[in-house]
Amino acid sequence: MRVFSGEVSDVGMSSGVRPVAGVGASRSLRPDGRAGEVIGRYELQDVLGTAALGTLYRATHVHTRKSVAIKILHPELACSNATALRFEREAVTTSRISHPNVVAASDFERLSDGTLYLVLEYVAGPSLRELLVDGPLPAEQALHITAQAVEALGAVHAAGVIHRAVKPENLLLAFRDGQQHLKLTDFGLATFAPEHDCDVITRVGVSVGTPEYMSPEQVLGQWFDQRADWYSLGIVLYEMLAGSPPFTAESAVRVLEMHLEEELPALPASVHPRLSALVSRLLAKSPEARPQNAADLLTEIEETAAQLAQHELRARWSLRSLFSGGTR
Ligand code: ADP
Ligand code: MG
Repeated sequence: MRVFSGEVSDVGMSSGVRPVAGVGASRSLRPDGRAGEVIGRYELQDVLGTAALGTLYRATHVHTRKSVAIKILHPELACSNATALRFEREAVTTSRISHPNVVAASDFERLSDGTLYLVLEYVAGPSLRELLVDGPLPAEQALHITAQAVEALGAVHAAGVIHRAVKPENLLLAFRDGQQHLKLTDFGLATFAPEHDCDVITRVGVSVGTPEYMSPEQVLGQWFDQRADWYSLGIVLYEMLAGSPPFTAESAVRVLEMHLEEELPALPASVHPRLSALVSRLLAKSPEARPQNAADLLTEIEETAAQLAQHELRARWSLRSLFSGGTR
């Protein structure tokens, strides 16, 4: 990955990287009454999650025994044309994107009984939501995760798609080469930008999304573009550093209002000002004031990571000189 050069990761941040418990198989899987059932060429194993439109299972291919994730549309929804179309759109959108940081779709089928299912690459690690249960992450780790999400979203936007549901639940963390490897999932809300519009602008009549992660323009149901995803990612970065998202309230409507009106609450004092500035830029109320594309954003993250590493190095040196001074 571009952002974390050897120098930066070698220096490390004081608090290190929070390991994912039970690396590679840390997801707690629920057995299910459907375990053993064969759907197409896939034998259902356990439940990974309950999706808005269906249930996510881990399954294995009956011949190769390779694990996959399979999203099966709720049978009661399969008879609705609108839902089936929405599910099909999710399948088409996911299939359009091929990137190491985006979950790959390999199949979409309808069985003779009407069951619709989408076959996805299986990610063995937990979601960022599960990781955040133990509190905020060290700055370096938060930046590492953010940079990978930017790479993923860069590919999504280049394919003319806006994800619209960037949040910790949809950022899965596999473990590869001793590092957390992010996979963006869930294109259930994703929308195609109109083909003729090179600015990747789309229009929504209603606001959709999870209140805590919605950009002001999504809240207003206005024209919006890929920069709405940068705002949502800004909320995720804020949450990784502070332990909770910036705008929370009892009522969803209040949360939506806060995106429009409230100033960003300050991050903990321990967060380096350069990193706070990056978060503020991502969370600018106006899309024009946010980073404009993935390449610019990656450069900014790279520079921030380098500055953090330098700061850390300086802190260590002054600590070391203090220590050696004291023993002289
Ligand atoms: P929803 O539209 O309801 O949010 P998701 O597609 O996000 O549905 O799936 C629900 C949950 O299932 C996710 O939050 C994640 O924990 C799990 N999940 C989704 N895709 C995968 C995958 N490819 N591999 C492993 N687990 C997955
Ligand atoms: Mg989801």
